[in-house]
Amino acid sequence: YRAKALGSGFALYHPDHNPYSPERLELENDLHTAVRNNLLTLHYQPVLDLRVGQLEGYEALVRWVRKDSEVSPGLFIPLAEEGNLIYTLDQRVLEHSLSQLRSWTTQGLNPQLSVNLSTQSLHREGLTQQVEALITEFGVDPSRVMLEITETALVADLSRSQAVIRDFQAMGLRIAIDDFGSGYASLGYLRHLPVHRLKIDKSLVWQIGHSRRDEKLLAAILELGHSLDLEVLAEGVETLDQLEWLRTQGFDYAQGFLIGKPLPPSIAPTHLGLVSVGAG
Ligand code: C2E
Ligand code: MG
Ligand code: MG
Ligand code: MG
Repeated sequence: YRAKALGSGFALYHPDHNPYSPERLELENDLHTAVRNNLLTLHYQPVLDLRVGQLEGYEALVRWVRKDSEVSPGLFIPLAEEGNLIYTLDQRVLEHSLSQLRSWTTQGLNPQLSVNLSTQSLHREGLTQQVEALITEFGVDPSRVMLEITETALVADLSRSQAVIRDFQAMGLRIAIDDFGSGYASLGYLRHLPVHRLKIDKSLVWQIGHSRRDEKLLAAILELGHSLDLEVLAEGVETLDQLEWLRTQGFDYAQGFLIGKPLPPSIAPTHLGLVSVGAG
């Protein structure tokens, strides 16, 4: 595994460049090719269960190496969304990650696996049937799979989101709200969505030890989550102080570079120490 400098490809493309610039058109073209030819790969970032002090599983994160440097998903996911490629990309990621989950299962591991779904995919006709077909095809236990949907995606069309999420729940899949607390202000919508987990955005987590107000906000989100029987996860944990604060407050899960960076699947089990995470 070659540790690649993240973002070494940034100079090639900047988001506020002219959308018709040759660089951008070339990037978009290359992305089409990469998705079509299945050249995207996945890395897996561990999720720590703070209550038992064990790894619970992983989040699958898509990776694209172009011309020998890694392009950030923060750049190419929006590009895929604009170029009508995102649904195919999300499908490919789901196929790959379910196949990986199956392979871990045959190795005696039983991790929980999280997969991100974009806004457009969430609202795409036929999504739930497609996901169900893949779960069946790969023969994985749906309760080991968690779909991550951003807060903004959910509230964009609440009644439609509600219908899709109910279908997922009926299939036995679990749902997390990603980047919680990064944008949307009202929490009332939570009452109407049968989700399982809140993933608190790293921008808020990074305020631990710096802003008393944000610490209070984090504590309030935790209380709200627990009062709704939701699991609460903190993203982007980078320091021991942050981890200790979260543990003391009673947060359920944590994810971040301190616990583990996203890694290729071959590395993931060794770094788990081959414990049967979440078994039983
Ligand atoms: P996300 O789902 O919120 O994923 C967390 C992002 O934070 C990942 O960035 C991860 O590498 C990064 N991260 C995790 N811990 C830390 C930390 O301690 N410090 C810092 N600085 N960063 C941390 P990544 O992989 O670049 O992905 C960015 C976003 O792109 C993701 O945010 C997600 O919204 C999207 N994305 C990634 N993979 C997929 C995918 O397969 N499908 C879709 N639709 N979106 C994806
Ligand atoms: Mg995510
Ligand atoms: Mg997030
Ligand atoms: Mg994000």
